[in-house]
Amino acid sequence: MGAAGVGVAVRDLGYRWGSTNGNTHINIHWATLQLAPSLVDYVIVHELAHLKGLNHTDRYWAEVARGMPDYERRRDELTTAGVKIWTCRG
Ligand SMILES: [Zn+2]
Repeated sequence: MGAAGVGVAVRDLGYRWGSTNGNTHINIHWATLQLAPSLVDYVIVHELAHLKGLNHTDRYWAEVARGMPDYERRRDELTTAGVKIWTCRG
């Protein structure tokens, strides 16, 4: 993804799988780590791509695809698998 020196923390992020300050740091929800590694990778790539833009524009998704060509399949899987893992969301 061309990202270097990016800090990573695992936290409770409420309804989000990941977040970023858009500059030097990404956060991963602890619940994300219950997912299959291929889906954890998707969340990480999703956040790293946000370092070049916070909005989900066509340009943003092109950046995701550059790092993870099969991201659409993984994004769909996350929608299905994400509701089956344990969270504090109730
Ligand atoms: Zn996003």
